[in-house]
Amino acid sequence: MLHFDDSISKIEDISISTYKKKKLYLVDALGYILAEDIVADHNSPEYPTSAMDGYAFKHKDTSLGRLKVSSINPAGSKLSDSVKDGCCIKTFTGSLMPDGSDTLIPIEYVEVDGDEIVIKESVPKGFSVRAVGENYSKDDLLIASGTKIDIAQIGVMASLNIVTPLVYGKPTVSIISTGSELLELGESQTNPSQIRSSNNYILEAIVKKYDGIPHQLGCIKDDKGSITSAIDSALAQSDIVVTTGGVSVGDFDFVKDVIRELGCDVIFKGVRVKPGQHIMVAQKGDKFIIGLPGFAYSSTVTALLYLVPLIAKLQKAKCPLTRVKAKLKEPFIKRAKKAEFTACNYSIVDGEYIVDFDGKKVGSSAILTNMLGDVALLVTDEDDTSKSVGDSVTLLLLD
Ligand code: AMP
Ligand code: MG
Repeated sequence: MLHFDDSISKIEDISISTYKKKKLYLVDALGYILAEDIVADHNSPEYPTSAMDGYAFKHKDTSLGRLKVSSINPAGSKLSDSVKDGCCIKTFTGSLMPDGSDTLIPIEYVEVDGDEIVIKESVPKGFSVRAVGENYSKDDLLIASGTKIDIAQIGVMASLNIVTPLVYGKPTVSIISTGSELLELGESQTNPSQIRSSNNYILEAIVKKYDGIPHQLGCIKDDKGSITSAIDSALAQSDIVVTTGGVSVGDFDFVKDVIRELGCDVIFKGVRVKPGQHIMVAQKGDKFIIGLPGFAYSSTVTALLYLVPLIAKLQKAKCPLTRVKAKLKEPFIKRAKKAEFTACNYSIVDGEYIVDFDGKKVGSSAILTNMLGDVALLVTDEDDTSKSVGDSVTLLLLD
């Protein structure tokens, strides 16, 4: 069994030879990773522009106290008139500053007297004029390739008239749960040994939440032939295949053998981690297969630990799960000489992460309800020992 850190290094060391890239309509690119640098092809604004409604004039004429309004300059208009000595042009927010002017005096600072204005309050030179390049200058690198596209990136790209940015394609992830005891959603129970499958649905949610494209393939019985053909066809149509169950040492645990028999190269099988020690990660060409254990808590945690980083890696993204330091409000009993990922409640008090285990049950790795609430995973290393109240610990945040 591998040390947990070595298993993570093996995921990090995977090299991706070709990335899927595509052009998407701007707003559909929300949540994708940008695959090109976004460089300004113009200054914004391109010309000095008024930032308020008022009168454009020569600042040196402030001392006259009174200016003649020679014309009007609405936003979007092409003004040919320029500001002469002793005159001003009525100019609005977003209008280009007329030639000859250097300052805008807001409407609120003047009084209109026929075709003249009287200056009530003076302004400094350049007041309310947006300088060329105030927002960005031509050739500025505004958004680097590799950035996750969020709302501001959409707006900035729109201002650059980028209709279809180039992005990395999100990997497709086929999901299969194995186990003859499993019932799909809505399926009627026909004998008491059957249980409702949760794994394939939580995995579908994980893939969706963490930026993959899920293909739900449902549950398959512990029948080697069916498992072989399901995994084989899933590999052909997706970037990652994730399975649950059948990787342990039981007589009906066929998944681990099928993965090998399909000619996949095993990256690792078995990690000193709790939960999920039987996990298997393999590769076939540019496709990946992750065999997760069957227990619901195990498959969930190991999906977060291995599947989520792989989904990120295939689109050149940063892994969205982050680690922070936190303080224990309750003691933590270290139960295994393995890396452990223990569901806990967290809150932020005076800027500090605080951890407790209220309502969390100790038992098998089937207890998925431990993942409900404001949950994070408390991370301990295989060499760590039990911890006391007030000790500093590491938390893996899921958002
Ligand atoms: P296995 O890894 O196949 O030996 O399964 C271990 C345990 O996890 C068994 O108690 C299974 O019933 C349970 N289990 C397996 N698959 C699922 C699933 N899809 N949803 C919920 N529990 C499961
Ligand atoms: Mg099973």
